[in-house]
Amino acid sequence: MIDPEIRRFHELVASASRIVFFTGAGISTDSGIPDFRSPGGVWDRFKPIDFGDFMASEEARIEAWRRKFETDKSIRRAKPNIAHTVIADLTDKKKGSCVITQNIDGLHQASGVRGDRVIELHGNTTYAKCLRCQTRYALDPIRKAFEKSGRAPVCECGGYIKTATISFGQAMPEAEMARAEDETRSCDLFIAIGSSLVVQPAAGFLAFAKHHGAKLAILNRDPTEFDRIADLTLHREIGPVMASLAQGRAALENAEEP
Ligand SMILES: [Zn+2]
Repeated sequence: MIDPEIRRFHELVASASRIVFFTGAGISTDSGIPDFRSPGGVWDRFKPIDFGDFMASEEARIEAWRRKFETDKSIRRAKPNIAHTVIADLTDKKKGSCVITQNIDGLHQASGVRGDRVIELHGNTTYAKCLRCQTRYALDPIRKAFEKSGRAPVCECGGYIKTATISFGQAMPEAEMARAEDETRSCDLFIAIGSSLVVQPAAGFLAFAKHHGAKLAILNRDPTEFDRIADLTLHREIGPVMASLAQGRAALENAEEP
């Protein structure tokens, strides 16, 4: 017999016509990417480099790149897990309108969600960008040049090259924020997965979705302060719950309105 909370989750998904998935670090831990806020995470070992320092000092830029290449192994090895795959499948079938993510690992794209359907609030660490002209750079050549010269990479235009992530002290990406708001406003189900929902703007999106009449589901191992406004909260491991969605989908599709 299916557990009532899981059944409710399946029903919410089945009756929704436009789902926004909002994902945080918890969805990627099964892919071997440590949650950087958890014990043993990167933030335990390093004080983050502020964007102002990055811009002001060659030393800070070198340190940022040194850390990047040191911690990059887990990101390079990581493969999407079942939760990423189920989301990709639902998005492909037009159930999911988009994925808004706090993650920088690129695993939603790797699982098959089209690039224009992934809204990355904190950027992406799998490539780099010139901060002045926005030219995109692959990491491999940058690493090789960095190892050879020991200098921080600079674009042909003279701008500094930085991983395409949003650092502390760096402005939130305006276009992404605007798109995320539009998507949140027009969805009828907002599912937050693997986010503790303590970092802005995550919190804002949940309240915004609810305010505009969407149902709200939260799937996270630990309680969050938004549980009280959610239509459903599941304090469980993410993988099995999302897998159940894939297994139950055939039945759900039959039950859907035409
Ligand atoms: Zn440039």
